Amino acid sequence: MSSQPLGDDAIAAAAAHLLPRAVDDVVRLSRIESVAAPGSPPGPLLEAHDEVVALLRRAGVTQIDQIMLDGMTAPTIVADVAGPPGAPTVLMYTHYDVVPAGDDALWTSPPYEPVVTEDRVVGRGVADSKANIAAMIGALEVYGAQPPVNLRFVLEGHEEFGSVFEEHPPASPETYAADAIVIADVGNVRPGQPTLTIGLRGSVTVTVEARTLGSDKHSGQFGGAAPDARTALVRALAALHDDRGDLVVPGLRREPWTGSTYTDDEFRELGEVLDGVPLVGTGDLGSRIWSGPAVTIIGFDAPPTTSPLNAVASSAKAVLNLRVHPAQPAKEAGEALATFLRGIKPFGIELDVQVGEAGNGILAETGGPAFRAAEQALRLAWGAEPGTMALGGSIPIVMSFHEAQPAAEKILFGASDGYCNMHGPNERLLIDELQRTIVAMATFWRELAATKES
Ligand SMILES: [Zn+2]
Repeated sequence: MSSQPLGDDAIAAAAAHLLPRAVDDVVRLSRIESVAAPGSPPGPLLEAHDEVVALLRRAGVTQIDQIMLDGMTAPTIVADVAGPPGAPTVLMYTHYDVVPAGDDALWTSPPYEPVVTEDRVVGRGVADSKANIAAMIGALEVYGAQPPVNLRFVLEGHEEFGSVFEEHPPASPETYAADAIVIADVGNVRPGQPTLTIGLRGSVTVTVEARTLGSDKHSGQFGGAAPDARTALVRALAALHDDRGDLVVPGLRREPWTGSTYTDDEFRELGEVLDGVPLVGTGDLGSRIWSGPAVTIIGFDAPPTTSPLNAVASSAKAVLNLRVHPAQPAKEAGEALATFLRGIKPFGIELDVQVGEAGNGILAETGGPAFRAAEQALRLAWGAEPGTMALGGSIPIVMSFHEAQPAAEKILFGASDGYCNMHGPNERLLIDELQRTIVAMATFWRELAATKES
């Protein structure tokens, strides 16, 4: 080592000193309407790209490249900072694009005019994921651009749009070679509770259709004996759960969740569950939302109630989204659901069931050196014992990195928290969480470097 590693106090002091500038960075980045959605203009995304590149240069990064694939509106930034010889390599991933603001009327301040108050910043993208960019820049500045590890920043500009860039890692795995890959597109279960995300549920689509008549028939003339396809379909869908709301489909993996989770009250608040309405399912909450399956009816063809039709339906179709235990192959779970649906035969009617698009989840390794380094970093940054959680939704890039570099440890933490309202109105970042994330990233690099030295 050419220099002494920074101690805990030095990192904390540097992060505190850098914090106002990091908050400024979040504000500057969030002022750009860098929406990645169908039909959104490329201009603001490219502006955001240039701003991120400028921040990297300010932090002392000179090696900055980009990856631009067909179908991408803005490039993925790939920037390198060399550490000491023989040091481990850490890939730091997040994204600089945002989802649309939605209904402006639901915001208390204009979504692209970020408002800074004593403890927070409110604006689209502040938590997801401009804060993580600012934290990475801040952590690099803690070390004056001389980090204790080799760093490769991979900053995507097209994440919210969906799958174009995620094809790249499996196709060019050498670009993503690293001892640890930090996906900073997540955060703590709640403010003040340091949390490593270790699981993401898989997801599979299942389409189910009932066909009963050659064409729709008058309900007065035929109703009563002619089978209504919608009723048959509803009956089949109703058979998926028991009276308590637990799925009764065999072959879907479910296990108790042993990490951190929300309390029922927190979950009710986050989900805006109405008073008097119970949560569904039994057993611990974690196993219902993270380490167990869930079926949601995400599409159902029927005349809208504003223009009903007096007819017995000749056909009816529903699309189901099945969320799957992180370690169960999504296709396998989809087939289990399909087999169960085919066996129902409502009123004796055969259903046509198709398993569609499937994306596997992931259960990250938790025993490796990078995971232990991350635990120690979060423990020091937040002054509390870190917990683990999972996400009910998938982050496809995690799977993509995993395919490219199965041996690299995947570490998920970041500056957002369960209450930040990402993708919703009044998205907010807590400044304290930003500061602690800078400390956590800088400490993680140091802790990981130390594992190679000893
Ligand atoms: Zn995100």
